[in-house]
Amino acid sequence: MADRRPCIAGNWKMYKTGEEALELIGELKDLIAGVDDVDVVVAPPFTALSVVADRIKGSNIQLAAQNLYWESEGAYTGEISPTMLVSTGCSYVIVGHSERRQYFGETDSTVNRKIKAALVHNLVPIFCIGESLEEREAEKTFSVLDKQVSGGVESIAADDIGKIIIAYEPVWAIGTGKTASNEQAQEVHHFIRKRVSDLYGKDIANIVRILYGGSVKPNNIVGLMVQPDIDGALVGGASLTASSFAGIIKFKIS
Ligand code: PEP
Repeated sequence: MADRRPCIAGNWKMYKTGEEALELIGELKDLIAGVDDVDVVVAPPFTALSVVADRIKGSNIQLAAQNLYWESEGAYTGEISPTMLVSTGCSYVIVGHSERRQYFGETDSTVNRKIKAALVHNLVPIFCIGESLEEREAEKTFSVLDKQVSGGVESIAADDIGKIIIAYEPVWAIGTGKTASNEQAQEVHHFIRKRVSDLYGKDIANIVRILYGGSVKPNNIVGLMVQPDIDGALVGGASLTASSFAGIIKFKIS
């Protein structure tokens, strides 16, 4: 974890109506009141961003969207722009989640455009990468990640790289109950940091936060957080219940 400030982000995916979102965020706010040593981020669906934004004003919780389009406005039916996200109260945005790559045709190149658009609008991109089970079994993990990292950050200025959060999410561990072992996750996080270092130098690589994602729960967060290159977690299923998400946020390394 080094000196980097931990970040725990909850991806609510396509769950929670406005009313349900209000209930969840209300409970979470109470459970984590006073936590000030972790950046806590929630990513509700677009339709619940406004109500959640209202409810977290002045709290220790920050708002993320789950996706964005790279244009600021225009005839792009069904899309949401970075300007709209900022005006709704978002300060983060998830980009290139594996479900978007898998079901909605996102590529390294569209992910790169989205990261750039987020940075222009001062949104912190949570840039997701990860290998599938087939790729891991074929021993392609590192080449896949190498391509995703370099494609995602292509032609982004060094000054901006430190603002990006990378989330390593092995696709085989998302929503499956399987987590990478602490050692497997650390090995990959170390590799990613080394790639950032090769591209942008050691100082920038040391600033960049790299989150782990894939079936993170209160009972496995500590083992992950003690790893030197793991700086937090991107949490799906366990962020949908206030008590389990709070349990992750309040992890304590003894
Ligand atoms: C995710 O969707 O980013 C995720 C990590 O999901 P889960 O925690 O449910 O595996």
